[in-house]
Amino acid sequence: MPSVIIGAGLVGSLLAITLKKAGEDVILFERNTDMRLEELGAGRSINLIITSRGLHAVKEVGLLEDVLALTIPVTGRMMHSKDGELTYQPYGKDPSECNFSISRAELNKLLMTKAEEAGVEIVFGHSVHSISVDKDEIYFTGPNKIERTEKFERVYGTDGANSQVRKELLKLVDSPSESMNLINADYKELFMPSTASGEYPIEKNALHIWPRGSHMLMALPNLDGSFTMTLYLPRTGEDSFENLKTKEDLNNYFKINYADSIPLMPKLEEDFFENPQGILGTVRANPWNYSDRICLLGDAAHAIVPFFGQGMNAGFEDVTCLTKHMNKNPKEWKTIFNNFSVEQKPNGDAIADMAIENFNEMSEKTGDERFLFFKEVENELQRRFPDRFRSRYGMVVYTLVPYSYAQSAGLIQQEILKELCLDKTEVDSIDWKKADALIDEKLVPFQKEHGVKLERYKH
Ligand SMILES: Cc1cc2nc3c(=O)[nH]c(=O)nc-3n(C[C@H](O)[C@H](O)[C@H](O)COP(=O)(O)OP(=O)(O)OC[C@H]3O[C@@H](n4cnc5c(N)ncnc54)[C@H](O)[C@@H]3O)c2cc1C
Repeated sequence: MPSVIIGAGLVGSLLAITLKKAGEDVILFERNTDMRLEELGAGRSINLIITSRGLHAVKEVGLLEDVLALTIPVTGRMMHSKDGELTYQPYGKDPSECNFSISRAELNKLLMTKAEEAGVEIVFGHSVHSISVDKDEIYFTGPNKIERTEKFERVYGTDGANSQVRKELLKLVDSPSESMNLINADYKELFMPSTASGEYPIEKNALHIWPRGSHMLMALPNLDGSFTMTLYLPRTGEDSFENLKTKEDLNNYFKINYADSIPLMPKLEEDFFENPQGILGTVRANPWNYSDRICLLGDAAHAIVPFFGQGMNAGFEDVTCLTKHMNKNPKEWKTIFNNFSVEQKPNGDAIADMAIENFNEMSEKTGDERFLFFKEVENELQRRFPDRFRSRYGMVVYTLVPYSYAQSAGLIQQEILKELCLDKTEVDSIDWKKADALIDEKLVPFQKEHGVKLERYKH
């Protein structure tokens, strides 16, 4: 009997390639029709940031070059103030420490095609309805409501934040837990086309942010000179989606908050009123597996808010982690699934927390002088003590150290920063000998205890 993977999104498609290459018999079922045969709907072209964990996972299945060919390097954040002033903050110690912007749709299409080339059958237009582990059967509602029943060995749930597989799994276990917490901010996709001569209208290799307290606009470059913009805005309240009902409301709001972007977005009104408004939230569930029969990966196990750019990266890391346990205990599926869940669940929780913290950081603090000063000192610490100090952001996006470690070490580093920056406003006035001693005293023992290496992941 084959195993079935539910959901041919980013994680399900990558998992299918991985399992097939490991010699497993798998079929991939997808609720939607084949996106490779259709025009992408307006407002659904989201681009994503792929970082160390995502790159490592695609490298493991031999797809690094194919994926990199779809990306644009992003070397830092470009902040746009209300009066149009620009401030650039590099992400890393040098431009080689960068992230990569990639179209979600193009990446998904590539992974589906590579899964098929590896020999995986993808069945589109089939939505999971329910699962019977006693009968080894999974039931689908297909196109035209025709039911399909499939016998299975194992079920992998990669069916996203509203996972039906998760709901079925949680019915089978004692003390299940599941929560979904929405934040009071939705998002909407907007668009900035390339210039008439096909060039990038704003700095190409940057993540652009217009931070405005509780709301913000972001832009990531596409390969063709355009930018995909995302507006994050509370649902209700003073500056909110609720209060942008007319074209006049919208134009006034943009004039006040994002004036420099207006001339660059000729279809702002059309995009805003026609594109869907998406919700954002955190999903936590426990457990992630039912014995050796069902296992959740990606957003189905841990959907997070997008403010660390890690949802897909974390899902791809799940695939790497599962593969590691498959190699350690070949064919012992109960052990594989249990060990995978034990290792990754704390990491899923940690990145979920950090993503929410980053929401506050990006929307409220990126324009704050004290915050910018801390960032400057943090960068200098990384430059002076590269073997012993790496920012939490750097650990998450440039290394493969567990998210849960990055979260805990980040707290210690924050204490060190506070102590060093007390009563200081200039980087030149920081006592670097004291910094050296504090790192040795507070941070190094923690690193040794966890046996982590801070070296940058080199793809
Ligand atoms: C605005 C925004 C920006 C983001 N930016 C980033 C970023 O920069 N970097 C990053 O790493 N992550 C980012 N993310 C998160 C990222 O998009 C997700 O973490 C990622 O898509 C999860 O992949 P997945 O395959 O687990 O789930 P999904 O992408 O949701 O795929 C699930 C698939 O399952 C299918 N499905 C659902 N239900 C059923 C069913 N019942 N039967 C059959 N099939 C089903 C769906 O049709 C879909 O194809 C962002 C998210 C948002 C909303």
